[in-house]
Amino acid sequence: MPDGLRMSNVSHEFGSNRVLNDISFDVAPGEIVCLLGPSGCGKTTALRLAAGLEKLQFGQIAIDDQIVAHPGDYVEPEKRGVGMVFQDYALFPHLTVAKNIGFGLKHFSDALRREAVERALTQVGMSEYLDAYPHELSGGQQQRIALARALAPTPQIMLLDEPFSGLDVARRADLRDTTLHVLKNAGIATIMVTHDPQEAMYMGDRIIVMNEGQVMQDGTPESLYFQPENRFVASFFGEVNQFASTVRNGIIETPVGQITTDEFADGTEVDVLVRPEGLHVGDSVNGHDIMANVDAVRALGEVNLMHLTLEKGGHIHARVPRRFSTLNQNSVAITLDPEMTFVFPMS
Ligand code: ATP
Repeated sequence: MPDGLRMSNVSHEFGSNRVLNDISFDVAPGEIVCLLGPSGCGKTTALRLAAGLEKLQFGQIAIDDQIVAHPGDYVEPEKRGVGMVFQDYALFPHLTVAKNIGFGLKHFSDALRREAVERALTQVGMSEYLDAYPHELSGGQQQRIALARALAPTPQIMLLDEPFSGLDVARRADLRDTTLHVLKNAGIATIMVTHDPQEAMYMGDRIIVMNEGQVMQDGTPESLYFQPENRFVASFFGEVNQFASTVRNGIIETPVGQITTDEFADGTEVDVLVRPEGLHVGDSVNGHDIMANVDAVRALGEVNLMHLTLEKGGHIHARVPRRFSTLNQNSVAITLDPEMTFVFPMS
């Protein structure tokens, strides 16, 4: 069994409600794995089981070669070598930063504790705040202290539950970078829970997409985005255009163009999902183009989202580079990028 954390065939029930259904995954030292999924899909429960805050009912959890939980038997949270950071920093308001960080290091000598506190504060770039109280710090700084507190005992495993969600955009970006840097440098195996696909893609070496207590796909951000294995994963990274079609002679006709397939037999009814960036927009070059009327253009920064109505009927969304905002056209030609198009058998 490799070092790091391994969850094997873990299921969990609250009463008759099965919230995790046979999930398995592992996290190697130095790897950041994001658990991504909608609210209520069981992400936090999986994290709490790894931490030992919830008793394991089915399956097995191992940390660095040691089985820390199987049904009926488990190692206490504080003996698992696990650090945790939650959304609400949960610092003790009446204790200084140094005392907050040193709180879990009571078994250390004074000198070793001071050394560990100072090292953890340096790791998160806050060494000058030793004597500050939580109320003197911003939300982002408090979350840095929470991270330092989790790092101080030099854990093998770090568990982060929506650690940035209470922060504004600039602080969130800043803290994400610090967290990545610190965890990578320390070689800690990390699980981070998030419901934000962009955050998971930014932070994760791997992403595990969950839905209704099950793993829908486990892979790199690239593979999940470009090779989703099912409709749920394809749709989870942002809105998609969806068309129903039937395979005829290896060709799938859609209102935005045709694609070829050798994966599906003739007559198979399929759903075709196209990311908005998979619809290219331009001038008409001949009379055979698929044309659409421009209903609205939404500026999203470096890209624009175009709301379009196909001449033959049907609304679609296209994400295009910002320079298209100057097009100022009422009518555009659409071409389909097969790389951003995913086909699944109709369920
Ligand atoms: P969120 O993003 O909203 O936190 P999540 O994916 O982390 O969601 P969990 O918190 O793991 O999901 O919850 C999964 C399911 O288990 C939910 O239906 C929730 O209501 C239920 N649940 C969680 N904790 C308990 C509990 N202590 N007792 C009963 N049901 C619970």
